[in-house]
Amino acid sequence: MAAKKSVLEFISSIKAKKRRELLEFEAKKLISIWGIHTTHAELAHDVQEAVKLAREIKYPVVLKVASPDIIHKSDVRGVKVGLSSELDVKHAFEEIMANVRANKPNANVLGVTVQEYVPPAREVVVGMVHDKTFGPTVMFGLGGVWVDVMKDVSFRLAPLTRDDALEMISEVKGYPLLTGTRGAPPADIEALADIIQRVGQLAAEVPEIVEMDLNPVFVFDKGKGAVAVDARIVLREG
Ligand code: ADP
Ligand code: MG
Repeated sequence: MAAKKSVLEFISSIKAKKRRELLEFEAKKLISIWGIHTTHAELAHDVQEAVKLAREIKYPVVLKVASPDIIHKSDVRGVKVGLSSELDVKHAFEEIMANVRANKPNANVLGVTVQEYVPPAREVVVGMVHDKTFGPTVMFGLGGVWVDVMKDVSFRLAPLTRDDALEMISEVKGYPLLTGTRGAPPADIEALADIIQRVGQLAAEVPEIVEMDLNPVFVFDKGKGAVAVDARIVLREG
């Protein structure tokens, strides 16, 4: 399959740089090769490049710190969303750099990534870990407190069928938030199931990937799709 060949080539290019953890923009490139809808992100090394990229991507945009030493970008206040002008981008760039200097002074910062801003939607998490006994296992949960506090998540071994993916979604306690309650329209559960299934397929076919985290995935109303706005991928050692 052409996508698999491209993914393996891409992974080799990362390994050649002696890294196991992909940066967000790299992880997004990999999942987009695999047909998972994501916000394409480009690396800007300085403020001028950030402004140029924002103009190309078109406003509004999002800026995020790009550093191999920073896993949780918002923990160091390294994410600025909804920037709608050149001035916004310049300010956001300086602010991110200052925040990172203050919160993580020793981080090796490559610059920032620039990506399109996605309007608010229901936020969910799709992940994958390699279980020592069972192998690649896919995780699904609703975003934010649902995962962090309530541990409201479901698991399946990879690869998954369409029905497996739909079942995983329906198993979490917060499921009614996706089907629509109190007048809210249903979310695009089909598009979400497609992402979950693709994550499972990627995990099963590319064992070099040992960990994957799409957090969050924005799920729009039924028929409008779903998009991963953050992505993290870890490769096997050696
Ligand atoms: P972290 O490394 O802290 O997880 P994220 O990339 O997930 O950083 O960004 C933090 C939050 O910012 C996300 O949970 C999401 O709500 C919001 N966000 C991130 N990227 C976008 C985007 N492209 N459009 C809109 N909101 C975004
Ligand atoms: Mg995130």
